[in-house]
Amino acid sequence: MSIPPRIGFIGLGIMGRAMALNLVKAGFQVSVYNRTRQRTTEFADMGCEVASTPRALAKLSDTVITMVSDPAAMDAVLEGPEGVLGAFSGGNTLINMSTVSCEYTKALAAKCRVAGVNFLDCPVSGSKPAAESGQLVLLAGGDEAVVKKLDPVLKAMGRAVIHAGQPPAGTALKLCVNLVLAHMTTAVAEGAALAEAQGVDPALVFTTLAENPAMNCGYFALKRNNLVNKDYPPAFPLKHMLKDARFMLSEARAKGLELPVTQAVAGLMERSYNSGYGDKDLTVIHRNLTEPLNAAKE
Ligand code: NAP
Repeated sequence: MSIPPRIGFIGLGIMGRAMALNLVKAGFQVSVYNRTRQRTTEFADMGCEVASTPRALAKLSDTVITMVSDPAAMDAVLEGPEGVLGAFSGGNTLINMSTVSCEYTKALAAKCRVAGVNFLDCPVSGSKPAAESGQLVLLAGGDEAVVKKLDPVLKAMGRAVIHAGQPPAGTALKLCVNLVLAHMTTAVAEGAALAEAQGVDPALVFTTLAENPAMNCGYFALKRNNLVNKDYPPAFPLKHMLKDARFMLSEARAKGLELPVTQAVAGLMERSYNSGYGDKDLTVIHRNLTEPLNAAKE
């Protein structure tokens, strides 16, 4: 990359904050926008320009990265008189790293093509710790040349870039990977709940998994304390995984594929969300499994 791009970063939540900080640390010129302005203060303190609207941010940038919740949040920052797209002209680049639906990604890619904007569909695999340590795996959908050109920017946030094809291939791959993650979460939550119900220390489930080379998995270790201590501080909020599960199911429906286990996992996540746990870590589904048990004990 000859002239480093001026990067505009939108969405300083759990993931976006850590990713934008890594771009700053890598020496890129980064400007930021966040709906809740308070979250921009530490960036202003580091000398980053803080834009008051997404449009103003786009005016300061060659490349805009979005890392917001969902399609509605994407529309809020991209569309309308204060949105990014109205301020972008040919040659600018938009990288979406939020997890949205394949349908949304396809429509956004088409819109960017018409406007002459380079578009990279680039959701991420890895949660808060990987975002903080710059170890995310980036799942890219876009032209090979665009992926290559952006490699230094992407590698400032992640350890690997997997080129999946044209948009929405990055999003499609992300949904497959999150399907596995959703099942793994449910599996350890149910394993821990069954251990407790049988009077076995749930921590021993994790000790056993860790001792077995075929089942020793970093994700289980990452979530162990949540389940053992029944405390679920958000790293990957349940509301976001539920959104992703809905996207998986609608993709499967559209392709005539049945996903019976994912359907059940989504049902459990729905129940947890309806209990008011949407902002907690997705492992909070464990609370829905153990609460009735504890209530029955009282
Ligand atoms: P988060 O902490 O909930 O942050 C969401 C961000 O979106 C915040 O900056 C929020 O702004 C912004 N936002 C939400 N609605 C908006 C709206 N209507 N207009 C403008 N901005 C809006 O989420 P996160 O965990 O960082 O996740 C971000 C994305 O990455 C999601 O798509 C998620 O599925 C995906 N993801 C998350 C993880 C993870 O482990 N957390 C891992 C991989 C992928 P405010 O500050 O104003 O609320």
